Amino acid sequence: MLKIYIDGEFYDKKDAKISVFDHGLLYGDGVFEGIRMYNGRIFKCREHIDRLFESARAIGIRMPMSKEEVIAAMEETLKVNNLNDAYIRLVVTRGIGDLGLDPKLCEKPSVIIITDKIALYPAEIYERGLELVTAATPRNHQEALSPRIKSLNYLNNIMAKMEGHQAGVREVIMLNLDGYVCECSADNIFIVKNGVLATPPPSAGILKGITRDTIMDIARESGTEVREENITRFDLYVADEVFLCGTAAELIAAVKIDGRVIGDGKPGPVFRKLLGKFRELV
Ligand code: PMP
Repeated sequence: MLKIYIDGEFYDKKDAKISVFDHGLLYGDGVFEGIRMYNGRIFKCREHIDRLFESARAIGIRMPMSKEEVIAAMEETLKVNNLNDAYIRLVVTRGIGDLGLDPKLCEKPSVIIITDKIALYPAEIYERGLELVTAATPRNHQEALSPRIKSLNYLNNIMAKMEGHQAGVREVIMLNLDGYVCECSADNIFIVKNGVLATPPPSAGILKGITRDTIMDIARESGTEVREENITRFDLYVADEVFLCGTAAELIAAVKIDGRVIGDGKPGPVFRKLLGKFRELV
């Protein structure tokens, strides 16, 4: 039976529960991280822990553990579950309060660590590529709720994803209020045009993905020019290649967007080269 870490104790999956008065549940008041372990090594551990602590700081949650303690608890959870390749979900909730939304009344944040397997899409989608549509729901305005905060409040993304389901596709592209491309519901996006790789800058209002940073590093190391610049839907439609990346989805090509075939409709050469290098790295 899978063991879940909650505030220093391990519980069987069926007993791993938190209070209905936790503001993580009542208001989506909390933050999280999704991390992978490949071959016994936690991939980009420092980067994920730093982002978790920044998300917590941005919403005024005082972490009840140090970074080192969180890493140790994560390693212990992986060990208790005998996992070598895993998806790790770190959750920090505001904690137990009353039915009002005042976070001051929540005394102690809760730290939850779930380690399990994850497969976002079937294997054939990874081979053939994904079809996407643009969602009408804009990404949260960054001055209202910054997408840089990986918060428990994912309704913005879920509403967009539901539009994808209505259109019969598995993933959507979200635009910001200026109409520029931001990201997908849970992944960052890249385009390739004439051999140059481009992705929206953090100032477009995106989550600054750790896989995104990794891809930019890999591409630059292999001599590919990388630009962080605003991207329009036109840029997507006329791109040679488009692909998505994230911890859970890893790398996946987009071969059709809003009914337009991208490039030659197959995962392209730059994508395949970067995927190969990413695989070597992990
Ligand atoms: N954007 C959003 C909205 C996300 O939720 C995620 C993570 N699933 C990403 C991008 C990708 O970030 P990372 O590579 O750090 O997992």
